[in-house]
Amino acid sequence: MKPEPKRVKFKLNGREIEAAEGSLVIDAAREQGVEIPHYCYHPALGNPGNCRLCIVDVEGAPKPMVSCRLPVKEGLAVRSDTEAVKRAQASSLELHLINHPLDCPVCDQAGECGLQDFYMKFGRYESQMREDKLHKRKRTVIGPHVVLDQERCVLCTRCTRFTEQVSETHELGIFGRGHKEYIDLAPGKRLDNPYSGNVIDICPVGALTELDFRFKVRVWYLDMTDSVCPNCARGCSISVHANTKRPWHNDGRRVARIKPRYNPQVNGYWLCDEGRFGFKHLDENRLGRVMRLKSPRKEFGWDAALGEIAGEIRRLSGDRGGKGLAVIASGALSNKDWTAFKGLFVDTLKVKHFLFGPEPDQIGEQDELLRRREKVPNLQGGEALGFGGSIKSESWESLAREIESDRIWGLYIVDRDAAQVWGERGRKLWDRLSLVVYQGIHKDKSSELAHYRLPATAYVEEEGHFTNFEGVVQGYRKALEPVGQARPDWMIFSALREKLAGFPVSEAALS
Ligand code: SF4
Ligand code: SF4
Repeated sequence: MKPEPKRVKFKLNGREIEAAEGSLVIDAAREQGVEIPHYCYHPALGNPGNCRLCIVDVEGAPKPMVSCRLPVKEGLAVRSDTEAVKRAQASSLELHLINHPLDCPVCDQAGECGLQDFYMKFGRYESQMREDKLHKRKRTVIGPHVVLDQERCVLCTRCTRFTEQVSETHELGIFGRGHKEYIDLAPGKRLDNPYSGNVIDICPVGALTELDFRFKVRVWYLDMTDSVCPNCARGCSISVHANTKRPWHNDGRRVARIKPRYNPQVNGYWLCDEGRFGFKHLDENRLGRVMRLKSPRKEFGWDAALGEIAGEIRRLSGDRGGKGLAVIASGALSNKDWTAFKGLFVDTLKVKHFLFGPEPDQIGEQDELLRRREKVPNLQGGEALGFGGSIKSESWESLAREIESDRIWGLYIVDRDAAQVWGERGRKLWDRLSLVVYQGIHKDKSSELAHYRLPATAYVEEEGHFTNFEGVVQGYRKALEPVGQARPDWMIFSALREKLAGFPVSEAALS
């Protein structure tokens, strides 16, 4: 383990403070609530010191210095609040804005722009600019997710450093000389890598904006909720930005965008594009009604539906001794869902046939940065309760064979498209089953073929915890109201368990 850095005392704006020796003054100041403006410095991308905005006065130094390259040491004394510093910061800002277009009323970055914010806090100078502004290329789509406006760029190089140091894909570069420098794609390249969306977050101005989000909603209308990405076993910390008041501005979608939340234990500052843009299906094809789909088809309330399903389970497990119920689930359940799942299917129903492994339908690409091959967030939560340990997962093939040899009378599917995985064979398997219950979020083949359909909430409509592949437990909060009658999975499992009070029937009937 690395030894903790020594703590030293130094003076900031006349106040003695403590910080790690060798840390940067700009970071030490932020920890104390003192904001020093900057564009080029980013804690994960280094400190080229080219924007010249973070200047401070240093006692004993003949000229101001940039605080993003100034290490803390014992006895150092700096000031970020002198008239000289304020004048220097305003002059640097004026330089950045010389050729910046007056786009604010039509710029999608308005409301979260580093130029707007710093001008109001540190600028407010009288413009000396009389010449025409230099024009560069506007509104260029440079990849599947990103739009570039060269005129708005302040040449901080954060985006080029990201493609060099983090994604290592080298699509972006600075071209030209002097005041004619501009940001652009390298010849023959497109900004099309699995992490491309991060340049939108780190661009401090409106030069790189999100293709899908542009002009859908002003940022001050968004509600922001802490959450966890459910799209792979990493479980990156995210913020869900919802547009509940004006979803029609956003193609009817209530979630407008997903942004990363800094978490040094899990994802640092970054997100992959799959996670960032993987929310668009949330409002599409949703299950909203509790339904009996077998004849006579019926919509009903939760109590009646679960009572009827519990009655069917009792009848079938009594009548069809020697056969069993099988349950298909996935690592998309929260920790609380897994506990209720175990209570219902293991403790009460003594189910012997489970399928919860991610292969083959929940497997995807993995890399060294964030993405994990298991495209579900919480296999670990299930493992903690014995799923994958003492409770084994069937394979799709072995479960199909069990059904074909008449050893299964019913199937309870939790948010997994079994019919899709089984393909042609699925229809014949269904015909052999006396009861198929589908509990899930979206309409899919299995939800159409089930005898009962129970709508569950998506992660943005509930709160809970996921345990990621490294054992980090993170909570996510409710951002939206559920669709229709949808309920959290744990609530459905618990209510059905109550309806089954008095179980188990004989072991022979259930095995
Ligand atoms: S496009 Fe944005 S991030 Fe890239 S250099 Fe320009 S201002 Fe910086
Ligand atoms: S790496 Fe996984 S958890 Fe992180 S954003 Fe991508 S899909 Fe989501």
